[in-house]
Amino acid sequence: MYGVNERGYYGQFGGAFIPEMLYPNVEELRQKYLQIILEPGFKAEMEDLLRDYVGRPTPLYHAKRLSERYNAKIYLKREDLNHTGAHKINNTVGQILLAKRLGKTRIIAETGAGQHGVATATVCALTGLECIVYMGKIDTERQRPNVEKMRLMGATVVPVTSGSQTLKDATNEAIRDWINNPVDTHYIIGSVVGPHPYPDMVARFQSVISEEIRKQLQEKEGRELPDYVVACVGGGSNAAGAFYHFLDEPSVQLVAVEAAGLGVDTGHSAATSVLGKTGIIHGSKTLLMQTEDGQITEPYSISAGLDYPGVGPQHAHLADTGRARFIAITDNEAMEALRELSRLEGIIPAIETSHALAALGQLGAGPEDVVVLNLSGRGDKDLNTILTYFETHDVQK
Ligand SMILES: *Cc1c(COP(=O)(O)O)cnc(C)c1O
Repeated sequence: MYGVNERGYYGQFGGAFIPEMLYPNVEELRQKYLQIILEPGFKAEMEDLLRDYVGRPTPLYHAKRLSERYNAKIYLKREDLNHTGAHKINNTVGQILLAKRLGKTRIIAETGAGQHGVATATVCALTGLECIVYMGKIDTERQRPNVEKMRLMGATVVPVTSGSQTLKDATNEAIRDWINNPVDTHYIIGSVVGPHPYPDMVARFQSVISEEIRKQLQEKEGRELPDYVVACVGGGSNAAGAFYHFLDEPSVQLVAVEAAGLGVDTGHSAATSVLGKTGIIHGSKTLLMQTEDGQITEPYSISAGLDYPGVGPQHAHLADTGRARFIAITDNEAMEALRELSRLEGIIPAIETSHALAALGQLGAGPEDVVVLNLSGRGDKDLNTILTYFETHDVQK
């Protein structure tokens, strides 16, 4: 009911709205992806890498002091403990194995903050495939450490100087590259966005998160189903993975947390489910922040991973049907939650993840309720932003 249909849609959202020139690439993927990823040999290779290279299963940690604070039984799914520090590696490992089976020798990716670029460069080094990462020139300057990491692992980082020199322009450049290299190149998209089959493919690679949660809850609580699953949403891949095996379990409340930025009504926000209308972005029909005449609005969030003007088509469908509840959290609320988790549990979360944490007080959960929060990544990468924020916002550090 909430999965993709055979035409690539989730309700009224999804599809593949792509230029004619890209059709052969996307069609090859569409025809082959399921057969390849469901094949036992593929699954075995993927499981081996997830265990020995990524470090899975990630722990499901009962956060006692946080639970006390919110008067509910809170578990943290520790995706922050994955190799490279977030959930993104689950997807890049899957897509690199797929690319190899498709006979591809060259990998391209786009990246904004650089996290997806690093996860892609990592699996390219792992498998010896050529890696080209397109990144807006401004982003390469803002995110120097990630550029250096990618280069250290052998990737070519191409600074994109067209347009606003950020993510949108990097994406255009990656698409242009793919059109020119249809035979030997695979394009690794970093979230549950883009034309069909990408949203479904990426959700399947991330679904290991909820598969593990079910097993781990059975061991810890004697039941597989939590009462709430909470995750932050940029494009929506960590949430899609955390929700996947609970979509058809109506007793499980799914909570998706977006970035409100300075506030939903301030004009500086990324709360797509509130501000978005149906439109087309990156080859997919979904909810999209846009002006009256359909121009994409610049999103804003303190978190680089959440300032995306759209949301994956499955999330648009979950919002539309009411299957998931959407909550918008401001910069200030997220940063307060970041400091709270650091002090209560000794875990410094990513700023993206801190948005999910800030929603804990709004769930309406009681002491008997089991809440699983997907801790999508660690905060090391955000240290500069965190320090600057607290220096300018209060005296308590
Ligand atoms: C990239 C990122 C996100 C946002 O991406 P989704 O596809 O929505 O999961 C969230 N958390 C962290 C730590 C990230 O690096």
